[in-house]
Amino acid sequence: MRSLITAATILVFVSLGAAYAQDATPTESLRRLREGNARFVADRPAARPTGADRLKQGRPVIAAVVNCSDARVVPELVFDVSLGELYVVRIEGNIADPAVVGSVEYAVESLRVPLVVVLGHDSCGAVSAAVDGKPVPGDRGWLIKQVKLGDKLPTEKEARLAAAVRHNAQAAAKDLELRSKMIYEEVTQKKVRVVAAVYSLKTGQVEWLGKDSKELSAPSKVGQPLPAPSLAERPALFPRLRALFQRWR
Ligand SMILES: [Zn+2]
Repeated sequence: MRSLITAATILVFVSLGAAYAQDATPTESLRRLREGNARFVADRPAARPTGADRLKQGRPVIAAVVNCSDARVVPELVFDVSLGELYVVRIEGNIADPAVVGSVEYAVESLRVPLVVVLGHDSCGAVSAAVDGKPVPGDRGWLIKQVKLGDKLPTEKEARLAAAVRHNAQAAAKDLELRSKMIYEEVTQKKVRVVAAVYSLKTGQVEWLGKDSKELSAPSKVGQPLPAPSLAERPALFPRLRALFQRWR
């Protein structure tokens, strides 16, 4: 009898796993991430497989996450997931540059992720640099210029940065949909959802942000390229070119 119950239990778990892999929806993925973050905030992580099982391949990828490179924001911990469950693209300021959009296209097309999360965080160095508006040397100068601050920011310093972080995450989510025809089509067919969120360094909590989807009805904007850095924006390029030229002579 006990072996029968054990077999039935295994069958139920195998079926549930298969069902998730085949029928994962944006809502289901979002629920998993919300629950995982609640466990992280409560400091009660789920039991993880150990031994050889911890390296097990083939878990369905729940979501793609476009995450800031900040070492304090680790999506696998923040959402309390196992190896193989998140496809993570990390870039300072979680901007949607062409390499990031291309990476997410792969996740959507080949891994069939139903959910894309742009995860900003409070006290973000990239957003802070953009708010300051001072010249930033090197290629990072170009990156900081891609941070989208929005209009009408509050004047108080802390509130100003917080509002800019939120706007930047929402703008990147919108960019992912509008710059990629493929992502745009998946979103309009409701197979994929792109959402913005902000992580609190103080509490560990992820706040999910609403997104104005009105622009999604403007297909002419799909596939907008991100402007490439001009030579003037990349002063570090000149010494390299000069060195190359001198070598040729
Ligand atoms: Zn950051």
